Amino acid sequence: MGEQKRLFFGLELPDECKQQIIQWRAQTFPADAGRPVGADSLHLTLAYLGEVSAAKQQALMQLAGRIRQPPFTLTLDDAGHWPRSGVVWLGPRQAARGLLQLAELLRSQAARSGCFQSAQPFHPHVTLLRNALTPLSLPPRNFHWSLPVGRFVLFQSHFARGRTRYQEIAGWTLR
Ligand code: ATP
Ligand code: MG
Repeated sequence: MGEQKRLFFGLELPDECKQQIIQWRAQTFPADAGRPVGADSLHLTLAYLGEVSAAKQQALMQLAGRIRQPPFTLTLDDAGHWPRSGVVWLGPRQAARGLLQLAELLRSQAARSGCFQSAQPFHPHVTLLRNALTPLSLPPRNFHWSLPVGRFVLFQSHFARGRTRYQEIAGWTLR
């Protein structure tokens, strides 16, 4: 077997939105609350694939290319803290149907292709802080981003020099 890549399907956020989010984050959470995710790395995971062979990647990309789903709006108007995983996140109070359908489709294609999918229900979120293990007070919900989503992406996750980076390796238009 050839080399495996660590892959996931997800949504990219517009640059302007990423900048606004990191500004808001800096004003909202104390510096010791957790390790901030770099602006470049802010994303929303739709389906995690794990370590994937080149052949399986090809198969998953073909299936992704056949998806016909209209664009939708991603709303980020909620924040939360999962103390066990140390994650502070932004997400929608009510996820758009299109978002849930796209994730459901990608997750079921992944499962049928042999990528283990956690039994946990899909909880759309953008991770803001990691290693946030101590209790923290969440901000009043006085924020609201509304982002048009017209595309989804296959990312490769690289770990190098102590840092995880995500690289877009393919993308598909919603239509
Ligand atoms: P690292 O694991 O190196 O600290 P990371 O978690 O950001 O960094 P990956 O583990 O490669 O990087 O994960 C890529 C994306 O997939 C992240 O958004 C992560 O939260 C998500 N993810 C990772 N494992 C799972 C899983 N088992 N189920 C669902 N999503 C996952
Ligand atoms: Mg991880």
